Amino acid sequence: MDNLELLSDYATFLREKKEEGKKVVGFISHDNIPEELIDAAGFIPLRLMFAGNDDLMDASVDYLPPSTCAFAQSCIGLFSLKPNQYKFLELIDYFIVSNHCVSDICASEIISKYFNISRLNFYTSYTKNENSLKYFKLELFELKKQLENINGYKVQDEEFKKSIRKYNSFKKKLLEFSLINIKGSEKLKVLQYAMLYGPSFLPKLEFYIKEFIDNQIQSSNGLKDILLTGGSIFIDDHLIDLIEEGGGNIIYLDTWIGNNYYSQIFGDNVLDSMENPYDLLVQRFKNNIFGDHSVPNFLENKILQIEKIYLDHKKKTGRKLGIINHIIKFCDHISIMSTHLKNRLQEKEIQVLNLERDYSRAIRGQLSTRIEAFLEMI
Ligand code: SF4
Repeated sequence: MDNLELLSDYATFLREKKEEGKKVVGFISHDNIPEELIDAAGFIPLRLMFAGNDDLMDASVDYLPPSTCAFAQSCIGLFSLKPNQYKFLELIDYFIVSNHCVSDICASEIISKYFNISRLNFYTSYTKNENSLKYFKLELFELKKQLENINGYKVQDEEFKKSIRKYNSFKKKLLEFSLINIKGSEKLKVLQYAMLYGPSFLPKLEFYIKEFIDNQIQSSNGLKDILLTGGSIFIDDHLIDLIEEGGGNIIYLDTWIGNNYYSQIFGDNVLDSMENPYDLLVQRFKNNIFGDHSVPNFLENKILQIEKIYLDHKKKTGRKLGIINHIIKFCDHISIMSTHLKNRLQEKEIQVLNLERDYSRAIRGQLSTRIEAFLEMI
């Protein structure tokens, strides 16, 4: 299935949900947004996880300076230009303004204000201590109230817990799927589709697991093994094709669309022993030490995590893992730490390519050259 088909199917899916009386809550695709609460309150969570292009980025300059990150620019562009394949964005009833980063807040506020989508607020602390955990819980209560006021009925703890279990099983399946040895582009495509649809994608995910499990590739197929960290590769981005054309294969996605999402799962014992669903999500927020919103120590945690994956991979396969740190242009979160990340990993003899780019077509050739040169080095 190509992306056009996927988006058209997704538009049909959303329309059907709307006909059933469901309302759609959009948000920019980073972590910590409690999609389980949105689901338990009877809404459809819609994650903005679409890559940009020249037109989408250009359309945003009416609202924000060009020094805004290319992804946030493109999110604004989607609402401003309304490309045909993204017409389903008109079905969004509410938009969450959250504070993953400055670009996220600004773009979300603009989408809500200038495109007339009612706003919901959900803010998370940048620190991890007793007070920030209490604050996270208060914000969950606050979001619950906002959702209840719209639908006019109370979100019962039982429903919320049921939704947490549903998403937890979904993420476990995604994790299982992510471990299958297939071409990175095939894997990414399924993960993107799955995260767009959410748990209703589970039967298809099970089908893909069955289909791919007997068709795994050998890691020595002449391709260089790659771990992708930094910014996600969103739907309709050609970056993964450039990596594969250059002779690389992403075997590990250390990004929001990837491990950062499906690694945040609860063990059955935690789910059974912790009655309060709000405490469960607080616990998850507390344990999320690898997401780039987590301060302090995010960078140290990230370096240690990548080193561990690298060493485990080398021990298991005897092969090196090249690290591509994907920096979406003007993404402060990732770019500000990129030199330190590269230097620290290279001290450990782990090769890193800091690959900064926006979504313009003109830089395609330049990106290919840099990727090919890096892959040759591994
Ligand atoms: S600056 Fe980075 S973290 Fe923020 S919206 Fe852009 S890509 Fe996401």
